[in-house]
Amino acid sequence: MIDTIATVERNLEPAKGYRLLTLNFNEEFQILPGQFAMLRAHNGYEPLLRRALAVYKQDSPGQLSFLYQVLGRGTEMLSLLGSGAKVDALLPLGNHWPVEECPRAIVVAGGVGSASVLMLCEQLKRLRVDTQIFFGAANERSALGCGIADFLALDLPLSTTTDDGSFGEHGLVTSPLERHLDEDTRTAVVYTCGPWAMMKRVAEISRLREVKCFASLEAPMGCGFGVCVGCVVAVNTDEPSGYGSYKRVCTDGSVFPADLIRWEVAAMSH
Ligand SMILES: Cc1cc2nc3c(=O)[nH]c(=O)nc-3n(C[C@H](O)[C@H](O)[C@H](O)COP(=O)(O)OP(=O)(O)OC[C@H]3O[C@@H](n4cnc5c(N)ncnc54)[C@H](O)[C@@H]3O)c2cc1C
Repeated sequence: MIDTIATVERNLEPAKGYRLLTLNFNEEFQILPGQFAMLRAHNGYEPLLRRALAVYKQDSPGQLSFLYQVLGRGTEMLSLLGSGAKVDALLPLGNHWPVEECPRAIVVAGGVGSASVLMLCEQLKRLRVDTQIFFGAANERSALGCGIADFLALDLPLSTTTDDGSFGEHGLVTSPLERHLDEDTRTAVVYTCGPWAMMKRVAEISRLREVKCFASLEAPMGCGFGVCVGCVVAVNTDEPSGYGSYKRVCTDGSVFPADLIRWEVAAMSH
């Protein structure tokens, strides 16, 4: 884990409300798919805490890109940065997507959860794993903002849905996922990142079909390295209720086996 100051190479706007931030570092990194960074604009003290963003792309050992939705103060401050501006960065953080012994992969991305799975899809393609991608977004603008062009460029089987039908199939991303799992019953592993309700449903669909599923959780996060315990989620455990019945998303995750998560409990904080 390195605490450093990076320099903005560019901060593009693929669609209104979304940004693709490319940073140059003085250090070289070997980022594993699914890992993330804590970032904040270096030009003031507000907001005080860095924000968690998945590493979207590793352009070179010292250059990384982050895809983010402009939501609140942290991402708004990042969105204002131009080329040459400075960013406080802590990275690489978290575990990574487990791809060992994956016979067939199904990747389900919802909204800007796509940021956590592009490198996973690249890795699966490199490893020649039979991979199907399901990409869900609210509408066409959101799909563009969440990097649909980069996913199409992978040239892997891809099915897109939008909530309003403006791009791809009309409806939720879980509908084609269910159809797919019912039609093709070969052993597979599902990888998902997106809104809490979507991942909860993906976990349920997978569990009902006895398909292994991993989810990357996007819990609001304070420090990113396990000290503040602000990002905990409730997990299934035999331990008595207390400290052991929670996991820290930052250091125990952000990727978890989906059946470990107590989706209905944790949903209260998401
Ligand atoms: C491991 C990890 C990786 C992440 N990767 C990305 C990424 O690659 N791209 C990206 O855009 N975001 C990502 N996120 C989510 C991002 O860190 C949060 O949305 C962050 O709080 C935004 O900061 P902000 O200051 O702009 O908004 P805040 O001021 O923190 O919040 C603004 C509004 O958004 C709501 N909100 C905050 N966090 C979340 C959340 N996680 N889900 C839903 N609503 C929320 C708040 O309740 C509030 O209404 C990731 C989170 C984690 C934990």
